[in-house]
Amino acid sequence: MEKLRIVGFGIAGATFAWTCYLNKVDFEIIDNEEESSSHVAAGLINPVVFKRLTKSWKVDQLMPFASDFYNQIEKILLRKILSHKSILRVFASIEEENNWSALEGDGRFSEFLNPPKKIQNEYVHAPYGAGVVKTLGHLNTRDFLTLSKAFFLHKGYTFSSELKADRNYKTVYCEGADVLNNPLFNYLPMRPTHGDVLIIHSKDLQIEDIVNKNMFILPLGNDCYKIGATYNWELKTKNPSEEGKQELLEKLAAFTSFKFEVINHEAGLRPTVSDRRPLLGEHPEQKGSYIFNGLGTKGVLIAPFYANHLLEHIVHESPLDEEVSISRHLKHYNA
Ligand SMILES: Cc1cc2nc3c(=O)[nH]c(=O)nc-3n(C[C@H](O)[C@H](O)[C@H](O)COP(=O)(O)OP(=O)(O)OC[C@H]3O[C@@H](n4cnc5c(N)ncnc54)[C@H](O)[C@@H]3O)c2cc1C
Repeated sequence: MEKLRIVGFGIAGATFAWTCYLNKVDFEIIDNEEESSSHVAAGLINPVVFKRLTKSWKVDQLMPFASDFYNQIEKILLRKILSHKSILRVFASIEEENNWSALEGDGRFSEFLNPPKKIQNEYVHAPYGAGVVKTLGHLNTRDFLTLSKAFFLHKGYTFSSELKADRNYKTVYCEGADVLNNPLFNYLPMRPTHGDVLIIHSKDLQIEDIVNKNMFILPLGNDCYKIGATYNWELKTKNPSEEGKQELLEKLAAFTSFKFEVINHEAGLRPTVSDRRPLLGEHPEQKGSYIFNGLGTKGVLIAPFYANHLLEHIVHESPLDEEVSISRHLKHYNA
């Protein structure tokens, strides 16, 4: 198998590079080193969709794969990149608490739920208690990207900033929302979603788990917390938005009361697709050009399994799952 070129080094590109590495497929990386969705992401891996109280898409398949993948990388890097925390879903009412109890009785959720508990924290208002979701926790995405790059450079893989036209290479485009600037693949129905997060510092709060109530509070250590995130389908910039910041501060004030200082405000564009499914496959006409994209709001959970799925397709010509194959959007190409 000849060398692959991977364009973009966010969660998709880095995960695909690791998959190549683990399968002994040679590669090089083209990345413009811009801040992206992957840098600002909270990195949460949540198996439950709180709004609908359903399981996250394909979580039974994706979660064990992601767990093995990140554990394997931690062993290679000799560094922790996952932090194993539970997610506490604060109930807004007795009704929510009752609905959650129904989930607990449902065997399909048993591996993801622990019994509800009271939150013993004077600054978090949770009179109805909280459901407890067992999960892999969260991936420190910045560490994952930085350590992965350092590792690959050390192993002699090349990183460059400019993609030169060369038909001899197979190229895998992992460009996130920037795919809208790629004439090869911008026919695909990518509808990026802008998201803001804030980093705050507070000596008061002292929580160790991830707390969620219409937003999340993620403990980062050293009395710092990431809070987020907003979802804005109109904003097309990667810049932080003042309205996003205000929305987060209002949501936080609705169920907490503690002193804090905002120390950073970050934002990114999630690569979300109109049908909410990943985008994998080869360009309909330009052979050798592939896409790995559409990771949407759950890149950390989805990327490992589908990076492997795409590599199998490229190397062994195994068929792509129709639900994720870009062939489902062929009508947009011909339009
Ligand atoms: C506020 C926020 C919170 C989030 N929280 C979570 C979360 O808790 N859990 C979760 O799983 N997901 C979360 N996400 C979603 C997650 O960030 C995305 O699913 C994931 O980062 C997408 O990764 P990507 O590699 O496809 O795209 P990107 O992160 O956009 O990376 C693409 C990279 O490729 C580079 N690039 C693009 N085109 C080129 C080119 N032509 N040449 C060179 N380089 C190029 C870009 O500069 C960029 O660095 C969040 C997103 C946001 C915005």
